[in-house]
Amino acid sequence: MKILLNKDDLNEALFRTSKLGFVPTMGSLHKGHISLIKKSLKDCNKTIVSVFINPRQFNNKRDFNKYPRNYKKDLSILRKLKVDYVFLPNKKDVYSSKRKTQFKLNKKERILCAKYRKGHFEGVIDVMECLTKIIRPKKIFMGEKDFQQLFLVKKYIEKKYKIKIISCRTIRNSEKLALSSRNKLLDSRELNKAGKVARNIINFKKTIKNKKNIKKLIKIKKNELIKSYRINIEYFELRNKFNLNLSNKIKNSKIFIAYYINKIRLIDNF
Ligand code: AMP
Repeated sequence: MKILLNKDDLNEALFRTSKLGFVPTMGSLHKGHISLIKKSLKDCNKTIVSVFINPRQFNNKRDFNKYPRNYKKDLSILRKLKVDYVFLPNKKDVYSSKRKTQFKLNKKERILCAKYRKGHFEGVIDVMECLTKIIRPKKIFMGEKDFQQLFLVKKYIEKKYKIKIISCRTIRNSEKLALSSRNKLLDSRELNKAGKVARNIINFKKTIKNKKNIKKLIKIKKNELIKSYRINIEYFELRNKFNLNLSNKIKNSKIFIAYYINKIRLIDNF
């Protein structure tokens, strides 16, 4: 495994690499990331994983500062997986100097996380565009856990750079909680609660399959979750998985949630 610390290392190592698979991450790796990496290792000739906590996608300095970091353990996981390259750039390598964000979401796209985390997806598209330009992969592997991110990256990066974005299913723990680096910020009681919320929504989705007044049932369930688990919910919505429009039927739709457990923001979709 080659560790690439800057753009020059990267250019030298990737010269003449064909069918390169790329897995962008912010580190603190878990089985969710590992599933993406394994898919790339299987599908592509070479695999590169980046670990970069992108400051531009945090709309809150405190959130950026407390984001879990564990580079030593990350490298040991990547080594065991026999990843070909790890890219650990600094901010200067990713963003060429003075370059300002040009990308803006349109009004229709300012939904779900975009509504509550101003500038977040502008930061995500920005970093994905910069990384794509310097890495020039054939395929990028991303998780459905961050469904809106996947949706927007597909829309804005896939066609422009003629690469394939491969969507990978969400990996959950035995309690059905989606794995996330942010889970490391929760204690065992809070993790337990987050698992209960996930199981509750999974069961709820099954029970409303053939119901008519879904919009109302979603509203009732949202209030029930708030009361039962004392969580602060930002959004709880049923949306079409192909265009992210609000939906009132289960077919081709997903339930999207963002909520807080003790100041830690969790997102999921079912
Ligand atoms: P992050 O390090 O959180 O920026 O995530 C890097 C990539 O891993 C993104 O494409 C995420 O969607 C994906 N990912 C994170 N958690 C999971 C999970 N539980 N299952 C599958 N993919 C995930």
